[in-house]
Amino acid sequence: MRVSTFMTLALSDEQNGYYKHATPFGKEGDFITAPEISQMFGELIGIWVIETFNMLNKPSSFSLCELGPGRGTLMQDLLRTIKKLSAECFQAANVVMVETSDKLIQQQKQALSAYRDKIYWLKDVDKLPAAPLILVANEFLDALPIDQFIKIDGQWHERLIGTDDNDQLGFAVGNNVLDQKGLPKKYQDLPEGSVLELSPARLQFVEQVLKHLSRHHGSALFIDYGSTGLPYGDTLQAISRHAFSNIFANPGKDDLTSHVDFSSLEVIAERQGILSGVITQGAFLTGMGLIERAGQLGANKGTAVQEKIRSVVERLAAPNEMGTLFKVLCLSDKKTGLHRLFTAGNTSHN
Ligand code: SAH
Repeated sequence: MRVSTFMTLALSDEQNGYYKHATPFGKEGDFITAPEISQMFGELIGIWVIETFNMLNKPSSFSLCELGPGRGTLMQDLLRTIKKLSAECFQAANVVMVETSDKLIQQQKQALSAYRDKIYWLKDVDKLPAAPLILVANEFLDALPIDQFIKIDGQWHERLIGTDDNDQLGFAVGNNVLDQKGLPKKYQDLPEGSVLELSPARLQFVEQVLKHLSRHHGSALFIDYGSTGLPYGDTLQAISRHAFSNIFANPGKDDLTSHVDFSSLEVIAERQGILSGVITQGAFLTGMGLIERAGQLGANKGTAVQEKIRSVVERLAAPNEMGTLFKVLCLSDKKTGLHRLFTAGNTSHN
């Protein structure tokens, strides 16, 4: 089967898929995402939402959309911040949660019960109402399926997954060969044995968002691990209980993700006339005021609390932690304009 089929079955199968039964998030789960590490993450994105709302000239109503909201923590921190800092932004926001997992929808409903009147759920992003859009997606794109190709004798052969004579799962080389014509040059020059990852599912989600931004205006933030330069090659990974595991060891029981190739998303944005910029998570959070917010939270607290806040800041923003590997992609239509942190001169490529 194709790698994307394997990922879809392992993650989303009705009976045995990872998201149907697992406890993905938090200390007892398999991984901890930035909103689960600290409330400051959602608070700073809340400030980005307010600034974007102002750039849109304060519409009387807009969609505040999150893709793949997990436990609902990011939206909780974000709405608390908006409500506190900008009554008109809070008033105008209609919250749209895009989520496929019924189990997670229930958790999100519980977490956000205080905002019941302003929120609704969609299974897909193509049903967004005709209104300006401010969208956030944290660790969403990495969870969408990818296909892999391997370069053999100058041709990109599709990598397939199957079982051997002993029923062990493993990779195989397929006969299906990628048409090189549409491939960017940087892929064509890669050496023999290189692995290339493409994700039609990712492109499709981002294309829907681009279409909406060009019709109805607004801005979107995609935060994820990945590269802005040459893709890394084979990045498919399984994570269980905060450690990497073999992708074939426990299909359906371990989380499967891969790194996001941000440059390909910027290319499709440009094609649609949408502005884009990518900066590191560290640059984004410090630019939005992480250090100042940490100082506020730690003021007049004991050393234990202050030390905890300091370590959380490190974890989110330090280059050897999440600060550099994680990138923030901002997409905006030309009328809205790009947020100040993403304009030329601020963007980095690595
Ligand atoms: N944003 C959260 C959770 C990230 S995990 C956080 O940062 O903690 C990925 C999330 O995307 C989960 O909520 C998962 O159920 C959801 N998801 C995965 N595939 C999806 C799809 N095709 N459509 C909508 N949601 C999806």
